[in-house]
Amino acid sequence: MADQLSGAGLAAASDIPSLDRLLNAEALRPALATHGRTQVVAALRRDLEALRKRALDGGVPRHELDAAAVAARTSAALDEAARPRLRAVYNLTGTVLHTNLGRALLPDEAVASVLRALTSPANLEFDLDTGGRGDRDDLIDDLLCELTGAEAATVVNNNAAAVLLMLNALADRRDVVVSRGELVEIGGAFRIPDIMKRAGAKLVEVGTTNRTHAADYENAIGPRTAMLMKVHCSNYAVTGFTKSVDVADVAALAHARGLPATVDLGSGTLVDLTQFGLPKEDTVRETIAAGADLVTFSGDKLLGGPQAGLLVGRADLIRKIKKNPLKRALRVGKLTLAALEPVLQLYRAPEFLAQRLTTLRLLTRPMRDIQPQAERLRGVLAHAAGPGYAVEAVPMFSQIGSGALPIDQLPSYGLAVRYAGSGRPGRHLDRLETQLRRLPVPVIGRIADDALWLDLRCLEDRDEAAFAAQLAEPLA
Ligand SMILES: *Cc1c(COP(=O)(O)O)cnc(C)c1O
Repeated sequence: MADQLSGAGLAAASDIPSLDRLLNAEALRPALATHGRTQVVAALRRDLEALRKRALDGGVPRHELDAAAVAARTSAALDEAARPRLRAVYNLTGTVLHTNLGRALLPDEAVASVLRALTSPANLEFDLDTGGRGDRDDLIDDLLCELTGAEAATVVNNNAAAVLLMLNALADRRDVVVSRGELVEIGGAFRIPDIMKRAGAKLVEVGTTNRTHAADYENAIGPRTAMLMKVHCSNYAVTGFTKSVDVADVAALAHARGLPATVDLGSGTLVDLTQFGLPKEDTVRETIAAGADLVTFSGDKLLGGPQAGLLVGRADLIRKIKKNPLKRALRVGKLTLAALEPVLQLYRAPEFLAQRLTTLRLLTRPMRDIQPQAERLRGVLAHAAGPGYAVEAVPMFSQIGSGALPIDQLPSYGLAVRYAGSGRPGRHLDRLETQLRRLPVPVIGRIADDALWLDLRCLEDRDEAAFAAQLAEPLA
């Protein structure tokens, strides 16, 4: 029956070229050179199978059987499969430390160091002075102590791991006293009560959601208490009729009973951000100086480094933590250490920090750079979006992100795109948002109040030409 159909410009199953013939065809050469025989054979088999099915179902236009057509489909499928899933994007969301977009961007010094560690053997656990075995923490603990005033330090995979490890090492099967106002959930799956349970510690909640007093902590201390713990509220704020007990007072209460006071600082900045015109956030050094025995914080939030969880504090507690078997399970790899060390080094020269540390450079990027950039790019985006949309350069506000200072906003500038036609704009804005997201380097903005907002704070001048180039032609 298929043979009868072939007369009408349609091919039959018997017309489908053989795998061997295709593999020898000139048209398949580039695919073979790029992807190798194994993948090309598999892709050809899939393509021929699909052709066979369609031929039996009613026929395939003859031109689809040409070696050139088969080669084009095969190459396209293999190129698509080979395209990295993890891709660079433009973060124009206005959230500088965007957890879904990979948080902190690393400075060139860190990139060079990672490249060296990737391509060359390194003294990860090798003591170059003695020729004996070393400890990977030795690579950064001096620097961390210098920058925080702590006696000792260690590092694990992320701050969630740091909290888990700290609780398990210091409070297994014992009580940990935390204010109800600090029992936070931070993004998806990090909830203080859950981590506590997994760590084997028993949570003792004190105070109320909005008010906790020193006496609340004091009354909760008993023979099973392992520590008093404070948690940075990160992505939410309690305002109005509120009261919390600060680190110094919690530490004094703990110390009076011979207990440690620990603080999960979350973002954990190493410098006073107000000197850069940013909102006040307690530094790790201030928290240690206030009496905290142990502080945990993230490497890839305000610190501006790689994903990591840093623990700093009393030497005896850090020693205990390092002996815990979970430490081995949660330890960092050499790439993390290679990235972290140069980032910490930058903090030794605070004069240059706002220029050299990418995160801080973005957070402090001046309006005099962002506003003219918005005006330069307005026409570019208007042309790319087409006549259906109105593009304006407008002031807007960026956020720091990653739980740091959730309600503080940074004055910024960017582009607001509105639908220019009549009717409901939603579908049209969604369409434009999708087109921008499908560019070779996806552009990620946000839709709110019937407009698509592109905050240009994180588009540094050196990236502007490439950004504009992919918008040179109308989208669609
Ligand atoms: C972000 C945050 C965490 C989790 O840190 P990760 O590095 O993302 O694991 C834990 N506690 C607080 C207070 C945080 O802000």
